[in-house]
Amino acid sequence: MQTTSDRIAWLGGKPGACTSSGPGEGVARRLVLLGAPGVGKGTQAELLGERLGACHLSTGDIFRAAKTMPESERSPALAAALDFMRRGELVPDATVLQVVRERVHCLRCPGGFLMDGFPRTVAQAEAFDEWLASQRLRLDAVVNYELPLENVVARISGRRVCSRCKAVYHLQTRPPKKPGVCDQCGGELYQREDDRPESVRVRMAAYEKSTAPLAGYYGARGLLVPVSAEGTPEEVFGRTLSSLEARR
Ligand code: AMP
Repeated sequence: MQTTSDRIAWLGGKPGACTSSGPGEGVARRLVLLGAPGVGKGTQAELLGERLGACHLSTGDIFRAAKTMPESERSPALAAALDFMRRGELVPDATVLQVVRERVHCLRCPGGFLMDGFPRTVAQAEAFDEWLASQRLRLDAVVNYELPLENVVARISGRRVCSRCKAVYHLQTRPPKKPGVCDQCGGELYQREDDRPESVRVRMAAYEKSTAPLAGYYGARGLLVPVSAEGTPEEVFGRTLSSLEARR
């Protein structure tokens, strides 16, 4: 299958130039990925995206990309979101929903999508369900990555991201070939502002309060697929694929 993903369409909210001939492996392909910050959702989304031919759509990436946009190009919603994000707090539901709805073309893509970081509250999940129904779309599954808290903290502190293509590395488990430099595009690697210890504490508290209840929400709708996030990215990926296959 030939698929070209145009991430600018998602990050910048502009019509995309993706080509997708539909699902790659025939397993579930309109997925939401849940799990605490640092659990490895972004890495799994990249691996799943390559295998399933679906785009990795991260709301956090939209907000991070907005930081480097000229101020005049930021929509009011994006500008308002940045202050919340810098403090590690959740962006208000109405703002996030507006930003997601502006990217309707990505959600309607025949190749499907891998939602990472959205929905983040039950109110967002309800609004997302309603919106999907209005578009005659439905979720295939919600993968919930589970990991003990101490492992989560260790993962976050070692995470580094490419400033150019947003590829994700880890100093211990997924180091780049050359320190500080992206293997894929040569961009400079950096630590996200919200991966610093003071922000991580706020994010974990926000996760427990607002996001953890989503497992119950999707469990009640028969969509939840729990997957242990322990081990290497490849092991977790293998487990994810088998769990999705088992649902078919
Ligand atoms: P992430 O990369 O998913 O951890 O997101 C980074 C930050 O962006 C979060 O700490 C929030 O400030 C903000 N954010 C991303 N997605 C959402 C969302 N669905 N709801 C509220 N805030 C969000």
